[in-house]
Amino acid sequence: MRILVIEDERRIGGFLQRGLTEEGHRVEVVPDLASARTRLGEGWDLLLVDRMLPDGDGLQLVRDLRRDGDRTPTICLTARDRVDERVEGLVGGADDYLVKPFAFEELLARIGAVTRRGGAPERIEIADLVIDLAGRRVSRAGTEIKLTAREFDLLRYLAERPGRVISRTRLLEAVWDTTHDPGTNVVDVYVSYLRAKVDKDFGPPLIHTVRGVGYVLETEGR
Ligand code: CA
Repeated sequence: MRILVIEDERRIGGFLQRGLTEEGHRVEVVPDLASARTRLGEGWDLLLVDRMLPDGDGLQLVRDLRRDGDRTPTICLTARDRVDERVEGLVGGADDYLVKPFAFEELLARIGAVTRRGGAPERIEIADLVIDLAGRRVSRAGTEIKLTAREFDLLRYLAERPGRVISRTRLLEAVWDTTHDPGTNVVDVYVSYLRAKVDKDFGPPLIHTVRGVGYVLETEGR
């Protein structure tokens, strides 16, 4: 998994980076909210967010993400150990909460739990688009839309990251599990299928092309 660690204490950041890298993850550490915000659109599979950061409370970042519909699994790290703050952490949209100091094994267990359940809601709603994740059903404006399995996976990947521009390479990796396009522009072809089903007879369009970069699902056009 690609993991972004937002932690200002270098010792802890280094410890997490080493430990999680040894577990086979790709890990990057940033020391504050400002630098985290510049990196959030990069398709992370997990965020580890310290609460007491030099430029604010990590929980605010989680709240902002959730408000934008971003469901990236998130674990808050904190030195504070008070029940009301734990509750606040979960209410703020974090999937779990770990009090420092913690054992690395404990962190791994929590990571396993939140990424298994994917931090994911059972449905995603963006404007009048509704995606029932468990039932793999999609509708717009109350009208059911039939998608193939691949189309569904592609739509889901974009919809789980609303407002984030996703490159073709990233989509190939995530949806087709390959880094190599066999020269067929398969991503573009499937995006056009999706548009024909999801956007064409409805409005306003949700799937947008960002020329030279990739695709984004969002309610406003670019
Ligand atoms: Ca801190």
